[in-house]
Amino acid sequence: CGIVGYTGDRIAEYVLIDGLKRLEYRGYDSAGIALIVDSRIQVFKKKGKIRELERELRPLNLRATTGIGHTRWATHGSPTDLNAHPHLSCDGRIALVHNGIIENYQELKRELAELGHTFRSETDSEVVVHLIEEELKREKVFKRAFLNALSRLKGSFALAVITTQEPTKIFVARKDSPLVIGLGEEENFVASDVPAFLAYTDRAIFLNDFEAAVIDRSSVEVFTFNGEPVKKEAVKIPWSL
Ligand code: GLU
Repeated sequence: CGIVGYTGDRIAEYVLIDGLKRLEYRGYDSAGIALIVDSRIQVFKKKGKIRELERELRPLNLRATTGIGHTRWATHGSPTDLNAHPHLSCDGRIALVHNGIIENYQELKRELAELGHTFRSETDSEVVVHLIEEELKREKVFKRAFLNALSRLKGSFALAVITTQEPTKIFVARKDSPLVIGLGEEENFVASDVPAFLAYTDRAIFLNDFEAAVIDRSSVEVFTFNGEPVKKEAVKIPWSL
């Protein structure tokens, strides 16, 4: 239901939790974040309120500066801790959050299970992270593996993905579900809606359907699902929080 991502110098946990709270008005049943902590991905996710997730995170004092967050409104799979996003690949090196519905997830899940993937959730979303992991076996460049995975998806999606392979970057894509990139100085944001990052920046790039992006702290590269670069104009958001 809600997506937030951050890469820069700030403590990502704070930016993500704050961003998710700004999207609370949309409603949700679970919340979670994934962070790059010492070159590894750590996931924290829970059924229930963002405040409860926050209470669990605070004492851990995580200093990670890259991460993604999600508030879930369940469509496939009941609202449980395991079905909450982010979802991890089998090797734990990729984490993903998703808004929308992957219509062909059953077919993909069957195919991936035959290839040895084990699924931890009942969601449609989890197939996407396994699909990227599978593509990476043939295509070592993460961006290409990500795009290859996108080409298999039917339905609606806004996606944000992090990987230990490129630990300061966020890979995103949109089709029939909103996604907007917030531009900062030596830091960048992504969210399903502007209020999530408006406290930090009012400059943004709105993705269109069939556009993907690689976001790093000082660069944003937008391209089509075929990998062709797209020139995007940054816009100034004419309102404040
Ligand atoms: N279909 C996904 C799920 O049930 C995503 C739901 C959402 O957009 O929050 O987990």
